[in-house]
Amino acid sequence: MELYKVELCRGSRGCPRAVGDTNELEGKIINVFEKTGFVEKRQKQLGANFKQHNVFKVGLAGCANCCSQPQIKDFALIAKALPIFNNDLCNLCGVCVEACKEKALKIEGGNLAINEDKCLGCGDCKRTCPVAAVKGEDVKWRLMVGGKLGRHPQLAQELKDVYDREGLLYLEKAIAMILRASDPHKRFAQLLEEENISFS
Ligand code: SF4
Ligand code: SF4
Ligand code: SF4
Repeated sequence: MELYKVELCRGSRGCPRAVGDTNELEGKIINVFEKTGFVEKRQKQLGANFKQHNVFKVGLAGCANCCSQPQIKDFALIAKALPIFNNDLCNLCGVCVEACKEKALKIEGGNLAINEDKCLGCGDCKRTCPVAAVKGEDVKWRLMVGGKLGRHPQLAQELKDVYDREGLLYLEKAIAMILRASDPHKRFAQLLEEENISFS
């Protein structure tokens, strides 16, 4: 019986736009499901009344393009690589400013400035800089919860940026919420809304 499903984009399998390792994260996520005994406990909780909407859906995307549709998953992580610029190498040519679709970069007062709230960590600035002035990246994952299709579809709510380990702890928290739910048939989105349980 399939009681959870992890769907990932082809990011780590050769997509040049990938900024996070979705394959590695998938392995860690499966470990969390196994460690928590999710399938066995869920089978007991649901009995013979298993329905398709009881499958807990996890989405992983290797970049902000979100090809694996994380917005409609119960729990999702989207890779985000915040660029770290080397001011000694940067000649303020403005190529990255033009390349940034989020308008997160600007040159002001003789410096390149980034608006971290706008940045989706897509890596376009790094790819286009002619002098390799992006010296590193802070790779995190955008945590999204509560997306679903069905009779009352809704997009997942974006909570915060997390590192791998933190994301896995949130997954454990989500699993615990599902396993102790008074009604085992409620979607995760319903649990978040109706039971007024804090998730962030
Ligand atoms: S989400 Fe990004 S990394 Fe994944 S397949 Fe799409 S473009 Fe590539
Ligand atoms: S493209 Fe590179 S050199 Fe040009 S402004 Fe951006 S970081 Fe600086
Ligand atoms: S990573 Fe993407 S969104 Fe962020 S500053 Fe660079 S081009 Fe803009």
